[in-house]
Amino acid sequence: MLYSKLFTKTTKEVSSDETSKNAQLLIQAGYIHKTMAGVYAFLPLGLRVLNNIENIVRENLNQIGGQEILMNGIQPKANWDKTGRWNTVDVLFKLSSQTNTEYALAPTHEEQISPLIKQYISSYKDLPDFDEENGVMPLAVYQIQTKYRDELRAKSGLLRGREFRMKDMYDFHKTKESQEAYFEYITQTYITIYNQMGLKVYIVDASGGNFSDKLSREFQVICDAGEDLIKYSETTNFACNIEVFEDIKASGKEIPVDIQEAKSAEVGNIFDLGQKWVKAFDTSYTDKNNKKELPWMGCHGIGTSRCMAVIAEIYSDENGLKWPESVAPFKYQMITNVNHKDDQKINNQIVKIAQSIYQGESEAEDLFEANPETVLWDDRESVGFGEKLKDADLIGCPLQIIVSKRSLEQGGVELKNRYTGDSNIIQIIE
Ligand code: ATP
Ligand code: MG
Repeated sequence: MLYSKLFTKTTKEVSSDETSKNAQLLIQAGYIHKTMAGVYAFLPLGLRVLNNIENIVRENLNQIGGQEILMNGIQPKANWDKTGRWNTVDVLFKLSSQTNTEYALAPTHEEQISPLIKQYISSYKDLPDFDEENGVMPLAVYQIQTKYRDELRAKSGLLRGREFRMKDMYDFHKTKESQEAYFEYITQTYITIYNQMGLKVYIVDASGGNFSDKLSREFQVICDAGEDLIKYSETTNFACNIEVFEDIKASGKEIPVDIQEAKSAEVGNIFDLGQKWVKAFDTSYTDKNNKKELPWMGCHGIGTSRCMAVIAEIYSDENGLKWPESVAPFKYQMITNVNHKDDQKINNQIVKIAQSIYQGESEAEDLFEANPETVLWDDRESVGFGEKLKDADLIGCPLQIIVSKRSLEQGGVELKNRYTGDSNIIQIIE
């Protein structure tokens, strides 16, 4: 993409009420726009990152049998009355129509998926038991969607939005064994998903609070801006929420010696919902003997926009963002220094080389993947070289291709790694 065509601009000014690092950086670099507290719009660069994150989630869930659907942001009050949650979920946004019909602005979708699935599971044949060895996946549906929660404090940028993005998956099983085995399987898939985004997660057991009375598992990433506190060990997979640490110690469980404490952000949460929702909506099926049975249900969330915030918090420095390649808006940002005081021949050569890299015609191995989809070419004519370099650091694409008189004198273009700061000349001119 040509930078000159991008409607957004980088800015030094961020309103003083924006205190979180992720939002400050993402606003400065032109990834998001603040609509109001806790509500952000995704701009071209930001949407590319969000889409990359959500596609990592999507591809991995498709591999474990997830079927993608898209439910609704607005839901009937009756469904929430049925589970008694209309009055107990404190973050529930409630809407009233011009005819005084009430709706929920969906914070999560158990109340919608349970009656929906009811229409499609009449028989035990509709609920295959999970069997990893033979590749049999259970009934699992998911969506990646915008959620709404009336959060009291929304001061952490994309970490805690009143409108935010979430993947939620729901699975249904004939047996508790199938559900529990799939729960473990999903745990492994989650680890892969976060790793692919560049996030190391610690898994902690947690009780689901308002959303479930069963045990659940949280996926925590160590991050100064996080709102949780965990105890963890680098050498073992021990990790727990700070509140339960003393209880775990008292229970006699062996505690690793290298325990540390850190702030963390919950990037995902998986739940065993038991039969609470299927009971409320009579989401039943008939077994082999034509007897009515209730399935076992699980629910699994990933905060995709929160993941973006955590990545921005972790992968950044005083100059700006430095995205992992898997989620970066572009793999390369190319900067051309066409200094009109220089002789025209050099300027022409710079543009010609940049053109061929941008069009994917470069023969250099390190630039094979360059094309208009992977390169953000800062072709702006009115902006100086120094400012372009600053913008490239702020925007944070993993690799910077610098085409200048100096690089040409060294035989080619400079390729700079935003993350390590290493740079070398890619020989182009024979
Ligand atoms: P928290 O404890 O941070 O309020 P939660 O436990 O209420 O979150 P869940 O219901 O478990 O959230 O939602 C699943 C995932 O959605 C969370 O693990 C988190 O990554 C993300 N999430 C939840 N609330 C928000 C929010 N307000 N803004 C952004 N992401 C969120
Ligand atoms: Mg949670």
